[in-house]
Amino acid sequence: QDKHRYSGIVEDCCCDYETVDHLNEEVLHPLLQDLVKTPFFRYFKVKLWCNCPFWPDDGMCRLRDCSVCECPENEFPELFKKPYHHGLPSDDLKCQEGKPQAAVDRTLDSKAFRGWTETDNPWTYDDETDNSEMTYVNLQLNPERYTGYTGPSARRIWDAVYSENCPKYPAEELCQEEKILYKLISGLHSSISIHIASDYLLDEATNLWGHNLDLMYNQVLRYPNRVQNLYFTFLFVLRAVTKAADYLEQAEYDTGNPTKDLKTHSLMRQLLYNPKLQAACPLPFDEAKLWKGQRGPELKQKIQAQFKNISALMDCVGCEKCRLWGKLQVLGLGTALKILFSVNGEDHSHQTLELQRNEVIALINLLNRLSESINLSMKWEQQLKNSMKEQ
Ligand code: FAD
Repeated sequence: QDKHRYSGIVEDCCCDYETVDHLNEEVLHPLLQDLVKTPFFRYFKVKLWCNCPFWPDDGMCRLRDCSVCECPENEFPELFKKPYHHGLPSDDLKCQEGKPQAAVDRTLDSKAFRGWTETDNPWTYDDETDNSEMTYVNLQLNPERYTGYTGPSARRIWDAVYSENCPKYPAEELCQEEKILYKLISGLHSSISIHIASDYLLDEATNLWGHNLDLMYNQVLRYPNRVQNLYFTFLFVLRAVTKAADYLEQAEYDTGNPTKDLKTHSLMRQLLYNPKLQAACPLPFDEAKLWKGQRGPELKQKIQAQFKNISALMDCVGCEKCRLWGKLQVLGLGTALKILFSVNGEDHSHQTLELQRNEVIALINLLNRLSESINLSMKWEQQLKNSMKEQ
């Protein structure tokens, strides 16, 4: 086996690359893949039709794969919608991607997420309280993949996202907290690019989908920083999940199907208290060293406002499916930031942890996306190395 392409500890984290790869491949990735398929984690509540607060809509999507296939009224668990249990939907009720949706439920009952808090996340822009514009999306039917969303519209979003955390002084003068925000965004960007390259429309005429290795290389693999930032973001989110272990272990994963819900709970426990993870990488990221010094509180406010703007920018993404995954993953990052920096005495408010159902769904789905990206980048890097050896 070749030595890992990156060696040593992932910068600003507490575990090395080889350990992360090994843990991810052996333990975390298989667990997360199972978890996101459970009824609790596969439905995401989202407001997809929203106005960009910064500029007029410039939707520039070429493919019909841009559109999201929402859940017909009868598909998602009844329990999500009504206060009483009426059983689970059939698993084979599927709406077809790209086809116009029939019945879409935008009238969620406010008790849908009962047992879970409705407190707003201080790091994100979205108002998560239920309202008539919210809809449920089955994430399993709407994979993050190539959509043809490219050009000035997509570029404008990324430029705005990066300018939000790129102050007007040179990069080397950035403090650690600001670097961390940059790395989180860059790591997420790498992950999105990896998913586009790994599920790409290779031939429009024959509708052939597959890997686009050139894109993968040119967008991510040839830039070591982008790969390193992906590992950083993964460990940061993993730390948030394990830090919230006690809360997440006791949470309610009820969807009205006791067998499946029990499985969800069991998978969560395996993730949260994993002996292999605890032995090999007990503290994936050490949040305690941040926000120290006199500037700490002011800096936190500033970075929180910057992240909020990034979250608001997701409403400007001009392709529905990209917006869905953009919103989900930014909410997932916002949830990780909330867990690590806004509760349990690390904030002036001294709040105890309270999470919305949607935040938990976003957090675990984000961790799964990052875990998948690490797996894919590792395998493809190996493939590239092998093909270079053959030449
Ligand atoms: P872009 O990916 O647009 O990058 C723009 C610039 O950012 C690059 O030139 C480079 O300077 C810099 N950059 C790139 N990667 C990194 C990194 N990891 N770290 C730091 N800097 C970097 N398209 C889809 O097909 N499917 C999707 O699901 C999808 N989701 C999206 C979600 C969001 C939130 C956004 C904003 C865009 C999404 N897109 C999606 C579009 C996609 O991300 C690209 O913008 C598009 O493929 C065009 O790529 P590009 O080559 O112009 O470079």
